[in-house]
Amino acid sequence: MRYKARVDVSTDAPVALVGGGLTGISAALHLGTRGIPWRLFEKRERLGGHARTDVRDGFHFDQTGHWLHLRDDGVKRLVNEALPGQLQPVARKSRIFSHGVLTRYPFQANLHGLPPDVIKECLLGYLARPADLAPVTFEDFCLRHFGEGISRHFMIPYNARLWGVHPREITAEWCQRFVPIPKLEDVVAGAVGASPPELGYNVSFLYPKTGGIETLTRALATRLSGGQVAVGVDPERIDLGQRTMQVGGETVRFSALVASLPLPELLRRIVDLPAELEKAGSQLRCTAVRYLNVALKTPPAMEHHWLYVPEERYPFYRVGCYTNAAPGSAPAGRGSLYVELADRSATEAAVLPDVIAGLAAAGVITGPEHVLFSELREIEYAYVVFDHAYYGATSTILPWLEARGIYPRGRYGSWTYNGMEDCILAGRDVAETIARAGTGTP
Ligand SMILES: Cc1cc2nc3c(=O)[nH]c(=O)nc-3n(C[C@H](O)[C@H](O)[C@H](O)COP(=O)(O)OP(=O)(O)OC[C@H]3O[C@@H](n4cnc5c(N)ncnc54)[C@H](O)[C@@H]3O)c2cc1C
Repeated sequence: MRYKARVDVSTDAPVALVGGGLTGISAALHLGTRGIPWRLFEKRERLGGHARTDVRDGFHFDQTGHWLHLRDDGVKRLVNEALPGQLQPVARKSRIFSHGVLTRYPFQANLHGLPPDVIKECLLGYLARPADLAPVTFEDFCLRHFGEGISRHFMIPYNARLWGVHPREITAEWCQRFVPIPKLEDVVAGAVGASPPELGYNVSFLYPKTGGIETLTRALATRLSGGQVAVGVDPERIDLGQRTMQVGGETVRFSALVASLPLPELLRRIVDLPAELEKAGSQLRCTAVRYLNVALKTPPAMEHHWLYVPEERYPFYRVGCYTNAAPGSAPAGRGSLYVELADRSATEAAVLPDVIAGLAAAGVITGPEHVLFSELREIEYAYVVFDHAYYGATSTILPWLEARGIYPRGRYGSWTYNGMEDCILAGRDVAETIARAGTGTP
């Protein structure tokens, strides 16, 4: 979506970038190459946002799996120049763990291996799916495209655990790019074990050989020029009328502002925000993710990169293995996992015994003796909830900001669901938009 923008080039003020994740870094990088001065303000002590990596005792843990999927030639070039030879291509090995067995992903195209009565229920449901249903909710979408059995055994329970809200609370629109819809012949082939083609946007990915995903973020950040980075600062009191903000006691003027901090956080800081916008902002919802970093004494018992776990009897809905994608993510001969927890308020002590039992049941580890250490982590802003208020709220807020030269961008700035490449692109595109607006080019 494009809006009429306002960049005040009559001032010599820089472009302010609030948020130093991939969006902010990419925006700074591309502003710099265009000779547009910028200042980047990041709340944390280092850049990277969600694409940062925690290190403990030689184990590198991302904020759960951060696998890089690249489609755009320009981004591919940028990434390869930043990290020549350091990213390895990986062919996805993922499975679903349900009914005590591992089956291929995606569930809807790979019923083979499930108990016969489950396959029968899923196939009959698929054949009777309501072709005339116009999906309003994500639940409708699942029923419409996959039928009742597949929805009941995987789509609904898995997504309820992932999003932290029931799919009937989510609209059907968000998922078109991310949920594969197999053809009839693929569903049949997958049910009889005739291996349909690999489906989905993440059939293969890139990942750093060592150092976790932050290797990428750092490499991009070292290429910044033509501006200043300030970390450990949290801009407050953003005054749109004056085009200033207060940062650590300083009044900073800006010609335009690229905001990749979460949208509600931006709105809270704007002092001259109209009541209508405040009300729209109060409707924005997001769920957190709680997860465990797990260090293993030896590589895991499974060979896969990640598993999806829809059944409620297990405390996690997804578990992934960094070292199966890049053994260099941990000390030689060790293994490392992320375990995403369904209970968003779980404590480590309460959940760990069931996690270990579940991981052993899924064949990920041999048992408690396999675990070197674990640590609980939380991502406060993880999944924007595409509920029924979403479109009204964002279509009120985003154009209003944009018309004032405030550019909300990135996964949480523009309040959406996307991946790292989208954020690098968003940074590149906003630099171009600002350059055009600054020269008066439409
Ligand atoms: C669980 C999970 C798994 C994911 N897996 C993948 C994957 O496999 N592949 C993939 O491509 N993508 C994945 N993503 C998405 C990916 O992480 C994001 O698309 C991308 O990193 C977002 O970048 P960003 O710069 O837009 O936002 P962020 O990374 O959130 O950066 C925003 C920055 O703003 C800072 N900030 C916040 N408040 C303030 C403030 N008040 N002042 C200043 N700074 C502030 C934050 O500290 C942060 O550094 C995943 C996301 C999650 C949550």
